[in-house]
Amino acid sequence: MRNTAVRSVAIFAAFALSAVAAFAQGAPQTDYAHMTMKVDKLADNFYTVTGMNGSGRTGGAIGVLTGPDGIFIVDASFGALTGKILAAVKTFSNEPIKFLVNTHPHGDHTGGNANLAKMGVTILGRPEMRVDLMAQKGFDQAGVPTVIFTSPLTLHMDGDEAVIIPVPPAHTDADSMVYFRKADVLMIGDFFRAGYPNVGGTVDGMIRALGMAIGACGPNTKVVPGHGPVMNRADIIAHRDMLMTVRDRVSELIKQGKNEDDAVAAHPTASYDPIFLSGIAQFYDENTIVRYRNGDAFIKQVYENLKPKS
Ligand SMILES: [Zn+2]
Repeated sequence: MRNTAVRSVAIFAAFALSAVAAFAQGAPQTDYAHMTMKVDKLADNFYTVTGMNGSGRTGGAIGVLTGPDGIFIVDASFGALTGKILAAVKTFSNEPIKFLVNTHPHGDHTGGNANLAKMGVTILGRPEMRVDLMAQKGFDQAGVPTVIFTSPLTLHMDGDEAVIIPVPPAHTDADSMVYFRKADVLMIGDFFRAGYPNVGGTVDGMIRALGMAIGACGPNTKVVPGHGPVMNRADIIAHRDMLMTVRDRVSELIKQGKNEDDAVAAHPTASYDPIFLSGIAQFYDENTIVRYRNGDAFIKQVYENLKPKS
């Protein structure tokens, strides 16, 4: 009897540990089969396609410029969703997809690259994108960019002028944004969104990238982040102001000799929480919302980025 009890405790402990590990990795697993695609028309010939998982959004938002010259698509979401994405595009266009560019190398934006490349789509990318994707474990090499740009690249097609703009290290070391001049839409990827940012590049790079986005936008530009609601130029300005202030507050804490835990405990985002955390739950699925419950993950990233390197 005692052995059984001990064993069931051990099994429970193992289960609890694996549950914790799965939680840390962002589980539950995405249920692609039951996801639906939401189509939004933002301009005469510009649409976004977003994966919906229950009430939340999953996968990066996709931008689609269509017209007689064929389709230019921004981001490719997960590979398992390519069929659903193509079916969603078919609801508003029968044109072939000609070009694809990714806003950054994360799998929820590039997983579908190889599927599209095998259909004859040409993939454009900055050199860092090519390097990152080639190094990604398990990434189908058919999906790496073959046409490389190192400064802004303009596509004149479908009566619009699409400018792909590489930016300094922000969310990753390979972020680009795409501004569609006639549609007046900025596909900004993941270096800007509602709530606190995810700084995988550098804080100063993100501040400079946001500055470039503010410069590219007009007052009515629809700014489409990879995740969450469509925003505007004023939202980017407020976001950059927040980031600069939090950067200054964290550097001050570092100057005072505070360690990372102390810096988090000092809660340098406090004055922004009412705005930056309000309503966040409605914009993201439960996998993503974990890191947005408070500003702690963001403060840790800023601290790690600014602390003196030994
Ligand atoms: Zn990302």
